[in-house]
Amino acid sequence: PHNSADKKRQTTCILTSETVSVAVAVPIAGAYDYLQSKGTLQAAVAGQSAAGISRGTIVTVPFGGRLVTGIVMGAGAGGVAPEKLKAIHAVAPLPTLNEAFISFIERVAAWTLAPIGAVAKMVLSQPQALQRPPQTTLFTPAKIMPDGVRITPARQQVLDVLGDAGAMTAAELARIANVGSGVISAMAKADMLTAMQVSADRPPPPPQTDRPSLTLTGEQQAAADIMVAACGTGFHPFLLDGVTGSGKTEVYFEAVKAVLDAGKQVLILLPEIALSSGWRSRFARRFGVAPVEWHSDIGNSQKRKAWRYVLSGEAKLVVGARSALFLPFSNLGLIIVDEEHEHAYKQEDQTIYQARDMAVVRAHIQKCPIILASATPSLESWVNAGKTGETPRYQHIGLPNRIKGAALPAMSAIDLRQTPPERGRWLAPPLVEAIATRLAAGEQSLLFLNRRGYAPLTLCGSCGHKLVCPNCDSWMVAHKLSGQLRCHHCGHQTRPSNHCSACGQDDTMQACGPGVERLAEEVLWRFPDARFAVLSSDTVGTPKAADAFIQSVIEGDVDIIIGTQMVAKGHHFPNLTLVGVVDADLGLAGGDLRAAERTFQMLSQVAGRAGRESRPGEAMLQTLDPENQVLTCLLEGKRDAFLAMEAHARSLAGMPPFGQLAALILSSHDEKRLHATLRRLDQSRPHFTGVDIFGPAIAPIGFLKGRHRGRLLIRTDRSVDIQGILRDWLADFKPDSGVKLHIDIDPYNF
Ligand code: ADP
Ligand code: ZN
Repeated sequence: PHNSADKKRQTTCILTSETVSVAVAVPIAGAYDYLQSKGTLQAAVAGQSAAGISRGTIVTVPFGGRLVTGIVMGAGAGGVAPEKLKAIHAVAPLPTLNEAFISFIERVAAWTLAPIGAVAKMVLSQPQALQRPPQTTLFTPAKIMPDGVRITPARQQVLDVLGDAGAMTAAELARIANVGSGVISAMAKADMLTAMQVSADRPPPPPQTDRPSLTLTGEQQAAADIMVAACGTGFHPFLLDGVTGSGKTEVYFEAVKAVLDAGKQVLILLPEIALSSGWRSRFARRFGVAPVEWHSDIGNSQKRKAWRYVLSGEAKLVVGARSALFLPFSNLGLIIVDEEHEHAYKQEDQTIYQARDMAVVRAHIQKCPIILASATPSLESWVNAGKTGETPRYQHIGLPNRIKGAALPAMSAIDLRQTPPERGRWLAPPLVEAIATRLAAGEQSLLFLNRRGYAPLTLCGSCGHKLVCPNCDSWMVAHKLSGQLRCHHCGHQTRPSNHCSACGQDDTMQACGPGVERLAEEVLWRFPDARFAVLSSDTVGTPKAADAFIQSVIEGDVDIIIGTQMVAKGHHFPNLTLVGVVDADLGLAGGDLRAAERTFQMLSQVAGRAGRESRPGEAMLQTLDPENQVLTCLLEGKRDAFLAMEAHARSLAGMPPFGQLAALILSSHDEKRLHATLRRLDQSRPHFTGVDIFGPAIAPIGFLKGRHRGRLLIRTDRSVDIQGILRDWLADFKPDSGVKLHIDIDPYNF
């Protein structure tokens, strides 16, 4: 499926050098020189593009005593004598990765300061993708029927079916011709049928773009028209800023259709793919097929197929989590990042990257449009859209109204100082009353508490001893449903006991504070006849379970939903009219740069679940601090004022997006070595104007998964090349053995 321009470019890129540079798909590896094999080199010199190696060829090479995959990045860098180099082991039987994608890999490595091998690993992370697909046997009628065979009626039926269909597996053939499988094997044995081996995989069915769409409102149509017009005209970033329930999805589907009609591929990124059953069915309604999916919950064979068909161009549309950004699209024409403000786009382990930002980089290199969609845009995108007075880099498209004339929910605060709940309970009287009203009216309520489990803390009522994780600086969270205490950082589990291990007394251990399970207990106690359900990653761990849950809510099997942030996102529950936020102050504690922004976003999103259809919705926020600026902006519906305030504060402090931040995190099992390395790193710190270096300090979670963690924080003005400074600083820096260094560009938790 390569067009002639691609072919031409590939021919010109065939490498005629004796050595080539390979990004080896290993997290700590860079690019290394390898010798071309005689065969590929001869082919290259002879100008045979089919057998030659070029930039983007996927190969296997010997590395550290084993064979690993890698990507050819170009001619060898030199520096090592060719006779000391190893040769490429094999060229993978796969199409070459295109130039835009290879440039993207290089840009991600340069931006994140990750070794190129780590990025290559994200691209080639699916070993199954590189394997030969499973084979299947198809039967066709023999070209020349052998003499003297008997054509029974059953055999004739088989030949008739094949006459229409051409080729089939034995099982299909037996079913459709309505004969026993013995008939087919006998015919094959008698040479009446010819067997051939083919790949068992079938490309995904292409989306249908000629199906009728919903009738868009004037506002939606105007937004769609602008984006459709930009498709095919190069890089064009949009911020699609629409209130919850404004129908953003239907609007960006129009751009999807336009790009598919132009024969190009589309990538849609979603933050929490597991919970997009509503999204999936809307997609199916619009495009007649299920989308190709890419996320951690899909099986290996599905991944293998998706990866290969994305590369061949036969997968036209992929919807996936952040890692889908590293799929090898051959002909990408549009990227959509839905819920662009979501922190799930930040990958925090291994190669640390922000998928939304890297998606913009990819669209830029690919010269295609990108749509960032949200009801609560990130401050970054807001600033990039020119909303704080800077030169706009993104085009802002607003959808200020809900469809069907639904109003945004009325918001109010419940001051917990004035109307506190009873001791040991968490729902204040006004909220209890509101729930009762909804129950009487047959409407649904949602109680939001972003805390999994039963209680966040268990302590001894006698000596005050707290149960903490042995591997992390964190409390053990009580989980009643599973009967365990669990660390949410490392997964360490223990059985609860009534005995205090510190003071030795019995029956003194007490659960402190609520999690969603404890809230469910209160709901059951207050409303024994109501049907309630808990939605958290503990109760609906799989996409299937999540789908079933959402469906049961939509069908009215649940009166009260109790949920963590999993319920805040994207769902459309027509009969839900009340949202109660149990602890609106929860996210505001702590010194995180984005705490206010994140709280504002999360509470707006969860409130936006209420009253999405004809009945008006209401959101009630329980708080100890109703005068807090974040909450007052939220209550008064002053989103833009909030963003302006937040922008002002960050701008004064030179913080992102007005300045740049990077964290250098050192971690080790050995505390002494950690501090020795931290000291050395600090002593080598560079001095530049416009660059501040804070620390060394204990990292926000000072002990995690058995490793002690320290960090240095680097803040620079926006004009400073922060990557360049870090690259120079760290070029010759080697941590002590057993100490790991992680670089986090634009850290979220510090
Ligand atoms: P948002 O993502 O902006 O919150 P959605 O795209 O989820 O909004 O749309 C909310 C609901 O409204 C969905 O059920 C969607 O199918 C429906 N919808 C959107 N646009 C229209 C329209 N023009 N006519 C009828 N229903 C619509
Ligand atoms: Zn732990």
